[in-house]
Amino acid sequence: MLVQNAQQRQLIKGMNNSEIQDYLNLKNRYAHFKKLYSLIDSTTISLHNQSQHQQDLIYQQIDQGLFMYFQGPKSYTGEDVVEMHIHGSRALQKKVLLELSQLNNFRLADPGEFTKRAMLNNKLDLLEVEGLADLLNSETESQRIQSTQQFLGKSSQILENWRFQLIRALAHAEAFIDFESDQDDVEFNILGKTQENVKQVIKEINEQLSDRNRGEILRDGMKISIIGKPNAGKSTLLNCLVKRDIAIVSEIPGTTRDALSVSLNISGFPIILYDTAGIRYTKDVIEEKGVNKALQHARESDLNIWIIDIEDVEKQADGSHIVQDIQEISEILKSNQNTLIFINKIDKANSQQLITDITIREKKFKIDGQISAQQNQNINFLLDTLTKKINERLDITDGMISSGTTSIITQTRHRLELQKCLEHLEIFSRNKQNLPVDIVCEELRQAVNCIGRVTGRVDVEEVLDVLFSEFCIGK
Ligand code: GDP
Repeated sequence: MLVQNAQQRQLIKGMNNSEIQDYLNLKNRYAHFKKLYSLIDSTTISLHNQSQHQQDLIYQQIDQGLFMYFQGPKSYTGEDVVEMHIHGSRALQKKVLLELSQLNNFRLADPGEFTKRAMLNNKLDLLEVEGLADLLNSETESQRIQSTQQFLGKSSQILENWRFQLIRALAHAEAFIDFESDQDDVEFNILGKTQENVKQVIKEINEQLSDRNRGEILRDGMKISIIGKPNAGKSTLLNCLVKRDIAIVSEIPGTTRDALSVSLNISGFPIILYDTAGIRYTKDVIEEKGVNKALQHARESDLNIWIIDIEDVEKQADGSHIVQDIQEISEILKSNQNTLIFINKIDKANSQQLITDITIREKKFKIDGQISAQQNQNINFLLDTLTKKINERLDITDGMISSGTTSIITQTRHRLELQKCLEHLEIFSRNKQNLPVDIVCEELRQAVNCIGRVTGRVDVEEVLDVLFSEFCIGK
């Protein structure tokens, strides 16, 4: 490494990082311009040039660039680090790595090893590391904002505050146990105060848990299904939205038997859009499976877009509109507030009618708009309506995910730990079974551990293995 001549390389071999730094005179946190040399085997050269045969070692400049030394603990990992900023070609990187590999104790870092060392040296906690991984994978603006908040420690601060409150409550409760057993006659109000603090933490955790999965949805993508009868134009709409032919568009009803999904960025939100099988009564066993899957998708999605072919809409004598559809769809519409209804194929000459609501199985539903997926008519209106609905679903009022609305729960792991934490706190707080105080304190201790597992303070080995294996090498 940093080999400026042959003698230097011999010397550097066997040195540790700070000895190398001393030797090369790299000043802590300064950028130095250095030249990199590699050694050439004299026998190779001798084939081409007899006159050089006498020399034992010949060295050749391979690159030049900036070198920086960061003395631990003020470095990313907390250890001594030397950064080399060289040119980026693969061949050059390979050459430099080959040269470095001749030094003692040299090996390539494992995926995420720098970050893992940073975590082990208390530079980052687990939540911040997960935030960094999400930031590196972020594709939309909302994902970038959420992961940055987490990476910069905003979520950790909230959790650490809860942990601190609970540890203090635990200390008070334990003091109460000692005090009460020693001096029965002394009135001691400390447990009451402890209960108050715990109730406040319970309230705050409950608020986070009732965020309607906003953090997870923003991290993993909001699931939106396009549903409707066969041939309504679902695949055409999906193609129109992704602006490429990803779904099979066909005139034969029942073509899309399985749900097809595509990732989209709609107004900065990550969306997983599903084109589902047409929903209708069928005797075809395979198609029926597709129909059931479509209905399941519709029930489990965060939002649905229900597409109705305008030719399926019947005008009644009183001017109202009716659609014959199957029971299950109307059940989903009744129970799921998150379904937009759009009439499709308005380009058809005989169908220029304004439909504001439709009746399906005696229940009236509001129409959100009329489009032509094939002719790209009113698609921007559909996207605007969808964006509004997404904001509503995520309880976002200012159009952007400002710091105030960011959820600290971005993964199921966080949610499960906080739910467990809440269960322990509620037992502590209610103590319905009138358990002895020391046993109830154990609940408080367990609650502290649950929070510790979210930030990585207690036994999270199995989480670390999965997390760092997903990091890229060199981070
Ligand atoms: P799906 O079964 O609901 O996915 O329907 P498709 O997207 O496969 O469309 C069925 C047929 O309707 C195809 O022939 C499409 O070209 C046609 N279609 C879809 N959207 C429109 C539209 O807006 N206007 C017209 N005229 N035809 C459409």
